Amino acid sequence: MRRTPRSRKLRRVYVRTPGGRTVVHYEKRKHDVPKCAICKRPLNGFPKLRTKDLRKGHRPPSRIFGGYLCHQCLEKFIVEKVISSYQK
Ligand SMILES: [Zn+2]
Repeated sequence: MRRTPRSRKLRRVYVRTPGGRTVVHYEKRKHDVPKCAICKRPLNGFPKLRTKDLRKGHRPPSRIFGGYLCHQCLEKFIVEKVISSYQK
C-alpha cells in the first residue's frame, strides 16, 4: 500500500526537482483573515497572511463577541438591543 496521506487536510503542491522528477509536497492550506460577521471587514488581533508563525499575534479582543464582531458593529448591536428592550 502506498504511504500517502489520503485526507485533504494538507494542500498538495507538485514540485519539479532539478533531476526532472515531479514530487508532491504537502503544505498547510492558506486561511483567510477572520472577518466581522456583519460588516465583513477584517478583524484586528489576528495574524496577517504570509507570516511564518501563525499563532504569533493571535490576540483577539477579550470583550464579548471579541474575534467575531468588530467594535462598531458590536456597539450598534448592543444599542439596538437595549432600545428594543425598552420599547416593549
Ligand atoms: Zn463589523
